Amino acid sequence: MSYLIFALKWRPQNFDDIVGQKHVVTTLKSALEKNRLAHAYLFAGPRGVGKTSTARILAKSLNCKDGPTVSPCQKCSACLEISQGRSMDVIEIDGASNRGIDEIRTLRENVKFSPVSGKYKIYIIDEVHMLTTEAFNALLKTLEEPPEFVKFIFATTQSQKVIPTILSRCQRFDFRRIPTMEIIAQLEKIVAEEKIDVDKEVLLAIAKSSDGSLRDAESVLDQLVSFSKNRISLKDVISVLGLIEQDLLFELTEKIIQKDAKAALGILNSAIDEGKDINLFLNSLIEHFRNLMVTKIAKADSKLIDLPQDVCEKLLQQSGSFSLEEIFAAFNLLVNTQEISKRLDSLRIPLEISLVKLSQDKRASSLSKHTPDNPKVKEEASEPPPSLTHHETIPLDTIKASWPQIISKLEKAKISAATYLQEGELIKFEKNILTIGFPKNYSLHKEALASQENRALIEKAIADLLNIRIRLNFILSDEAAKIKENNNHSPFLQSALDMFKGRVIKED
Ligand SMILES: [Zn+2]
Repeated sequence: MSYLIFALKWRPQNFDDIVGQKHVVTTLKSALEKNRLAHAYLFAGPRGVGKTSTARILAKSLNCKDGPTVSPCQKCSACLEISQGRSMDVIEIDGASNRGIDEIRTLRENVKFSPVSGKYKIYIIDEVHMLTTEAFNALLKTLEEPPEFVKFIFATTQSQKVIPTILSRCQRFDFRRIPTMEIIAQLEKIVAEEKIDVDKEVLLAIAKSSDGSLRDAESVLDQLVSFSKNRISLKDVISVLGLIEQDLLFELTEKIIQKDAKAALGILNSAIDEGKDINLFLNSLIEHFRNLMVTKIAKADSKLIDLPQDVCEKLLQQSGSFSLEEIFAAFNLLVNTQEISKRLDSLRIPLEISLVKLSQDKRASSLSKHTPDNPKVKEEASEPPPSLTHHETIPLDTIKASWPQIISKLEKAKISAATYLQEGELIKFEKNILTIGFPKNYSLHKEALASQENRALIEKAIADLLNIRIRLNFILSDEAAKIKENNNHSPFLQSALDMFKGRVIKED
């Protein structure tokens, strides 16, 4: 038997074979049954989730000798030709290729001619957003008055780039990323049929790495089969994909729970030594904390977590060691680490600092509150404000209420200053001096903010928003540590706001 790559061999031929797009399939089937078909469709969604396959199946449903039908016979000449990609009535155009313009021109000239043998002439235009303006305009003319026998199916991974005049003429379907568990189910079918010896955890690793794209998952499986012949081990998958193992994330989090900073750093260190991608390491850790949060709320509901039941149980168990607020704080810290690393050449140092922070014993810092306060307050206070900026004083709470806006304003001017300032606590506002405290182990933050440049930027952000000119005083104090501690139990909403503020994890 000749060798066919899995993605081709397992390409769905029927609506019922399409994985993970039930909402699309149901609507299309019902339109076919009622014979209420649009002239043009737009299939939007990420790569490898079944857009083109669905387009071809729809074409078959229309042109099958029994068509329009929800179950094309797969035997008539139209069905066979479409399956083999040689139907004269189904014209596929790749919008991403340079030939786009010429092909659209040809389309314009030929669209008026009746189909060769089928009932419909179907144009499938892939990556339609990539067409040039010229090609778009040509296409629009055709779309305005298409002959009865013509159907358009556009596919795109970036629907926001499709011009509104095209969008408004299409019925739109949004294809979604395929859930991990559905990808696993499909991979299980393939390995059973192909008699490949593989553990379920291997399929999980493949499915997770494919980020919702079944096609990607299938091609990784392909690679692994050619790489390891008889039996695919988890080790093979991890080395081929450079993945971060679930176990490693559980282990690292365990060290954080045990407040064992040294061991946490050790885990990071060996991962780097083994050549793991440190960005992926951080992303995986962020995802792990996200999963801990979801399990804490939804218990071991594997639908929400999209992981096998045994992993969900393990997450549930681990999440018991954290309060929801602690998970938010960890999530926040890790996302910030990602942000900071974008401005630095290295991710390693910020990540190490975050791991140490996460592994700190909070109780120890609150126990130390009986030690004398740092008396440096006076000498570090900035000079009294010039009299011309004298204002009636405003309550500290007013400043507190605007603090998130002040920080986000500062973020636009200088992200590092905003990141540092976020760690500080507003202690008091007296005689036009705003005192911002940091726990004692945050002296780096305090020193960085005390520079003339940063002071000026912060003062300006405050002046812009509150219309007052103030002076800043940064201190290290136990009071700040105490406030910080209390803030760890701040209301859900604030945590959620904090959390979403920096939440850019991945984009297409
Ligand atoms: Zn047929």
